Amino acid sequence: MESSTVAREAIDLLNKLGAAPPFAAQGSLVARSPIDGLTVGHLPEASADDVRRTIEQAHAAYLIWRSVPAPRRGELVRLLGEELRRSKEDLGRLVTIETGKILSEGLGEVQEMIDICDFAVGLSRQLYGLTIATERPGHRMMETWHPAGVCGIVTAFNFPVAVWCWNAALALVCGDAVVWKPSEKTPLTAYAVQAVMERALARFAAAPLGLAGLVQGGRAVGEVLVDHPKVAVVSATGSTRMGRDVGPRVAARFGRCILELGGNNAAIVTPSANQDLALRSIAFSAMGTAGQRCTSLRRLFVHESIADGFIAKLRNVYASVSIGDPSQPSTLIGPLIDAAAYEAMEKSLTEAQALGGKVHGGGRVDRALPSAYYVTPALVEMPGQQGPVLRETFAPILYVIRYRDLTDVIAMHNGVPQGLASSIFTTDIQEAETFMSSAGSDCGIVNVNIGPSGAEIGGAFGGEKETGGGRESGSDAWKGYMRRTTNTINYSRDLPLAQGVKFDV
Ligand code: NAD
Repeated sequence: MESSTVAREAIDLLNKLGAAPPFAAQGSLVARSPIDGLTVGHLPEASADDVRRTIEQAHAAYLIWRSVPAPRRGELVRLLGEELRRSKEDLGRLVTIETGKILSEGLGEVQEMIDICDFAVGLSRQLYGLTIATERPGHRMMETWHPAGVCGIVTAFNFPVAVWCWNAALALVCGDAVVWKPSEKTPLTAYAVQAVMERALARFAAAPLGLAGLVQGGRAVGEVLVDHPKVAVVSATGSTRMGRDVGPRVAARFGRCILELGGNNAAIVTPSANQDLALRSIAFSAMGTAGQRCTSLRRLFVHESIADGFIAKLRNVYASVSIGDPSQPSTLIGPLIDAAAYEAMEKSLTEAQALGGKVHGGGRVDRALPSAYYVTPALVEMPGQQGPVLRETFAPILYVIRYRDLTDVIAMHNGVPQGLASSIFTTDIQEAETFMSSAGSDCGIVNVNIGPSGAEIGGAFGGEKETGGGRESGSDAWKGYMRRTTNTINYSRDLPLAQGVKFDV
């Protein structure tokens, strides 16, 4: 194990969090920090048998957990929220070390976990079904929501802890057991979260063994989870490539999927926009988290009447941001996750240039750390929507395109395969309402005067088209973790059959 300052801090934090990752020199999983690009340690990956065993244990736990009253299940999630509040500072710092996101965002991610726990506790008393008017006299019809079974949770590197909690908090109050396969790029935060969860479980008398399992490893480990017939719901967050594989595999065994995949999010700046507000929103959405959010802003459409002035101001904002060590309070932009992310950024910029794009920014800023990838965010003025503009490059590249007409720009906005988050900056109510209407943005998240990046717990989160169609977090997203039964009760002494059928015996 190397003992860089960052690695030492990671180990200290893991100790404080009560997590003891099974470091082993021959482990195939590499825990590293993008802050200095150095290895923290090696870890073993779960074998296929380990994964199956964890699922079987979770399934046995589910058979008990499903009969624990939902408000009581909420008590476990309340305890999890309490433990997370205690661990927030240390876990947030560890998120920063393992992902490279700035400290306020690392802490913010843990706050999102706490918020979803609060939401789920309330939800545990609100898993309502409907009572439905029936056509038969002396009958009542209603629907009841039951736990679905084991929920397999596959997560991406960029929200290494919050996405688990978004799923687990809801799944647990819904009566499911959970098995988590975190990103192979962020095993340490997963061990830390598991330790926090185990403290909550230890304080809860009725928690069956194996209720919340963890299996570490790469794609092959994820595949065993995804294929297992006892995993009733697979909630998978990651690239569209991953979803394209996972979706059909789960469908082939008639399992259920919640897919949260890539985005290619856009904003429109209209002539009536409050430009100062738009500039701040755009800067945060496009450069924040070094462009490594599923909701990061990647395409910007600016009305031609204001484009020259607006783009000039935006370039000044881009020139002023501080890039560097994400644990320093003055830093706004930390490193990319790894070399592959940097290479993908370079490739997209080269392609954009070849298509007539004018590239401002891009390139590495600090070569003193050869394995750490700090980049200057890039602003690319494009003549049209083509080439790399049509895909998600998980890096801070903002393509800027001028437009003339609202109908045309909405068509261009929707003219990409992804459909996650979108925004319009306008003070014109007709433009705002048109953008939110059925003829407007085709995304799952449609905002006015606020950037596309981020999510609030109370709303359902997710997107359309190649973003996968899943919904998580608020509103009625909980229904994805349960199965619905329709119950008809005959409280009369007659048996009126449908369609006038008489079946006298
Ligand atoms: P990734 O697709 O490389 O990996 C995501 C997870 O899927 C990892 O745990 C990985 O091991 C696993 N995986 C990959 N192939 C698999 C397979 N065939 N079967 C089972 N598991 C498999 O994504 P990443 O690089 O970690 O994250 C970045 C991507 O995630 C971006 O595309 C981003 O937009 C997306 N993302 C989406 C959301 C959302 O809510 N829509 C949130 C965060 C990230």
